[in-house]
Amino acid sequence: RAKDDGGGAHCNYVPSLHATAEERRRLEYSLRQAIEKNELTLNYQPVVNAHTEKVVSFEALLRWSSEEHGFISPAKFIPLAEDTRLIVPIGKWVLYQACREAMRWDDDIKVAVNVSGEQLLEPNFTATVVQALAETGLAANRLEVEVTESVFLRDGKTANETLEEILALGCSVALDDFGTGYSSLGYLRDLRFSTIKVDRSFVQGASEDSPESLAIVRAVVAMAQSLEMSTTAEGVETAEQAALVRDLGCTKIQGYYFGRPMSAVEAHSLVVKRSQAAA
Ligand code: C2E
Ligand code: MG
Ligand code: MG
Ligand code: MG
Repeated sequence: RAKDDGGGAHCNYVPSLHATAEERRRLEYSLRQAIEKNELTLNYQPVVNAHTEKVVSFEALLRWSSEEHGFISPAKFIPLAEDTRLIVPIGKWVLYQACREAMRWDDDIKVAVNVSGEQLLEPNFTATVVQALAETGLAANRLEVEVTESVFLRDGKTANETLEEILALGCSVALDDFGTGYSSLGYLRDLRFSTIKVDRSFVQGASEDSPESLAIVRAVVAMAQSLEMSTTAEGVETAEQAALVRDLGCTKIQGYYFGRPMSAVEAHSLVVKRSQAAA
């Protein structure tokens, strides 16, 4: 152990817990300024129709390139943004930016935006969505809101009511990462989700000869069909996985096999290229 002589800022003996708290503080400080400093961008990952393989939507995925810290993974800064409630202004920026950028794509392509519980439980969330649509001109039916089951944990009633309002606007609502986390079927009984997104752990497991994963994907698809919800298989990386989930009846496919997250401009040209190829 380093002796605490007050001058040990650069010594190697700083307990790691301390370093982590300090790092978090520095990250939070930077994240507070990220919007103003234009350090946030959205990438878009295509979601295709499982049968026609045509792009039906793009999921907006937030990227933070910090002047101070370099590129930081969403797995790291999203939880921080949620803990500090910075996700509320950041999420609003994401919503507006995604609607704005989607306005340049074809009319029949949707944009999916991830929404955290902290945002959804804000009393004015629906009003924010209405405003974003009005100010950007995006039709409500081109916006899909993605939530995970965790949004129902703290105040399920309010989360549910808000999502009902979003559906009433004509937007879609997807249940993300289904099968991980808290998986209570009550959520599916209480809300008419447009889409269930089957978590990539099941999708990827299903191709590696795991009868358990296969059975789970099959069961989720069957359940979604009887509830009149569509399904998206997440994390499809190979042709084999794509064929498998299509044969299991998934309606849509997302994953590196059909495209990695890309810039809005690349997303636009991907669609143009694909529709030219089809013509
Ligand atoms: P998610 O919403 O489930 O998004 C899918 C994640 O899986 C993305 O990671 C995507 O890049 C990754 N992915 C897609 N296809 C594949 C594949 O074939 N293989 C593998 N291994 N991974 C694949 P990303 O961009 O790092 O985002 C991680 C998570 O961060 C997202 O998971 C979402 O929960 C959260 N997130 C991202 N952007 C936002 C945002 O704007 N707001 C909020 N609240 N959360 C966000
Ligand atoms: Mg998502
Ligand atoms: Mg997901
Ligand atoms: Mg996720």
